[in-house]
Amino acid sequence: MKENGSSEEELFSYLSSVREEDLKYGRILSSMCTRPHPVAIRAHMQFIETNLGDPGLFPGTMGLEDELITMLGDLLHHSGAGGYATSGGTESNIQALRIAKKQKPVDTPNVIIPASAHFSFDKACDMLGLQMRSVPLDANYRMDPVLVNEAIDEKTVAIVSVVGTTEYGMIDPVKEIGSVAADHDIFFHVDAAFGGLVAPFLPGLAPWDFLVPSVSSISVDPHKMGMSTIPCGALLLRDPEAFGCLNVDTPYLTVKKECTLAGTRPGAPVASAYAVLRYLGREGLSALVQGCMENTRRLIEGMEAFGYARAVTPDVNVATFDCPLVPTGWRVSRTRWGHMRTVLMPHVTRDVVESFLETIGESHA
Ligand code: PLP
Repeated sequence: MKENGSSEEELFSYLSSVREEDLKYGRILSSMCTRPHPVAIRAHMQFIETNLGDPGLFPGTMGLEDELITMLGDLLHHSGAGGYATSGGTESNIQALRIAKKQKPVDTPNVIIPASAHFSFDKACDMLGLQMRSVPLDANYRMDPVLVNEAIDEKTVAIVSVVGTTEYGMIDPVKEIGSVAADHDIFFHVDAAFGGLVAPFLPGLAPWDFLVPSVSSISVDPHKMGMSTIPCGALLLRDPEAFGCLNVDTPYLTVKKECTLAGTRPGAPVASAYAVLRYLGREGLSALVQGCMENTRRLIEGMEAFGYARAVTPDVNVATFDCPLVPTGWRVSRTRWGHMRTVLMPHVTRDVVESFLETIGESHA
């Protein structure tokens, strides 16, 4: 750090030049984040200094967090769900497994996850001393309930399914896996960090949320398809009392107990997520999702017209291809199975899709 401060002008000119080095969302097809909605940014700024780590000082913001959780619970068919706003899917998944582990204290506990699970489960299992049993997927990259059943033993403390897998956009058969969890009375966590704000608006899906009676907890991230500012995830529990096992004493704060992982927690992204959900409503969110799904279908059709087959037909707005190209000027990623991976986020508009396909066409020629 320099002895004397910089002028504001010099500072912000430097910051602008640094920001220029960042890529712009318009040509990023590899991210599950997107440009926040304008109302998200406005609400975020209004709550910029709030700290949910000491909620008694910010009762208004605390109330907004409760309202956000109620809105999400309602969307996921359990308005009485307990929950709090996390920093994202990673924290939600860690916290869900912490609860599962505390509910069933055994030596050498294990957790059953699908091979498609997000790497946050590697972190969670490492931190919590859980053996991670990864079960192979079926031909459509979904978790196989039969293999889940085979992997269970008396030390299994949790089963995890994914709604909207990170790499292929698949929805696991939650109802069937839920039956297996119920048969063995095992904590059942659904990681819907990505798909939790997509699946409620897709027609004809089998139940995957709290409608499945054995679902214990759900991760859902407003900072992905909810267009909020970063960081805003949410962990919802069927039984709000279950958070109690995570409580620690917080003697010098305005509340005397805390179950969250982070101490200081920003209220700004919570206000931002609340604002988007309230502003768009179910109708607006549904229109957003229909648009992303339509663009997903168009990209698949366009890629297949060039001979690049889809790896699988996705359930949500993630499209993967058997395509070795590295399209110049665009960001796509590769799945661990070697497929080109694209995520059709709200910033990937129809024009962006057509422009991407043009690049593919030129590279293909
Ligand atoms: N779970 C799923 C299914 C995800 O796709 C992701 C991230 O893409 C996560 C968890 C982790 O979320 P975050 O990066 O917000 O911690």
